[in-house]
Amino acid sequence: MEIGIGILAATCLVALILLCLVLSLHRKNKRTLRLLEGAENSLAAENDRIDGILRNIADGVIAVDVAGNFVHVNPSAVNMFRLSEADIRSGQYDEIMVRHHEKLSLESLLEGAEGEEMITCLGRTLALRVETVVAKSGETEGVIAFLRDVTETQSLEDMQVDFVANVSHELKTPLTTIKTYAETLLSGGVSEEQKKDFVEIIDSEADRMTRLVKELLMITRMDHSQQKWYKKESDISALLRMAVRKMEITAKSKDIAINFMFDTTDKTLVEMDVDRIEQVVLNVLSNAIKYTDEGGRIDVDLLVREEKVRIIISDNGIGIPEKAQARVFDRFFRVDKARSRQIGGTGLGLSISKQIVEEHGGDIELESRFGKGTKVSIVLPMPRHRGERGIL
Ligand code: ADP
Repeated sequence: MEIGIGILAATCLVALILLCLVLSLHRKNKRTLRLLEGAENSLAAENDRIDGILRNIADGVIAVDVAGNFVHVNPSAVNMFRLSEADIRSGQYDEIMVRHHEKLSLESLLEGAEGEEMITCLGRTLALRVETVVAKSGETEGVIAFLRDVTETQSLEDMQVDFVANVSHELKTPLTTIKTYAETLLSGGVSEEQKKDFVEIIDSEADRMTRLVKELLMITRMDHSQQKWYKKESDISALLRMAVRKMEITAKSKDIAINFMFDTTDKTLVEMDVDRIEQVVLNVLSNAIKYTDEGGRIDVDLLVREEKVRIIISDNGIGIPEKAQARVFDRFFRVDKARSRQIGGTGLGLSISKQIVEEHGGDIELESRFGKGTKVSIVLPMPRHRGERGIL
């Protein structure tokens, strides 16, 4: 009987121990399960994060395996190459991509590239960088192509190179003239009359260089937003009267009449940097005089319409051929380089004028008929805050 009770007690004890063991194992398993779940979640979160980064970066990213299947294409790459869902699922990477550029062929990507390579696809310049994906076993699994759109940067760089080349050329031309005439003067044997001519040429070329350097400095200041603007509400009629007065002597020397087509006693207020807008008007007026033959006519008009002031300066001069009209606001562009240089032009006046007017929130437009004349409109916004049209 006692033995029976002893066996029962021992059995109960063993059962209890076993129960405790099972419970503890269960608890451990639960903890392990929780840990596993946590790891899975953080892996998913990490994947989401990487996916989010790839989705939002501006660079195109294309991952492709060695069999030619797209593994991942981010939205930038989809846009860059106008890829459809069907393209991506097709498993025909090579067929689809090689038509854009041979450097995008699977073979070329697998060969790898040192650093960045520039390629042109669909009118854009892309910087291509390739990374090979290698498995632990050392086998190549695929490649990732990174594509950065550098079209704008590239064209800016090209513009800078062009600009420096133009500046050097523009400075070299008057310098060569000055040097040639100075050497001729120094070598002697020049008549008094020739001496005067030569010195006058040297003087006018030096003036042109000074103008060029001044304009270049202004362009640099505006390009780097270092130009100081002193804007205040001022009367544009008064400005036009003053500008015309300043150009009258030059116009008279060519027997050109400048006519006002509006009532100059009307006051029209515009928020502007008076000196800079006067510079624009003087430039347009001086072009009108320069490119109009003797005895010609220049009209200056002022219109106020839809919260805007329109200054119109038209001439009946030589005009501009149609295909050149779109380029007259480009730096250093001149229809007839030799003629412009001869009359002291730098080819920068209209481009600077455009920058100044745009800085005022306005616009400058040019219409011309070759052999008939040119009309330049300077459009400036009127002050809005007083709810009136600016005419006093
Ligand atoms: P430039 O110093 O050569 O006058 P601009 O930038 O002021 O430079 O003008 C660019 C070019 O546009 C000129 O060289 C000229 O060929 C043309 N142009 C400008 N205004 C006129 C005009 N009123 N009539 C004819 N051609 C003009």
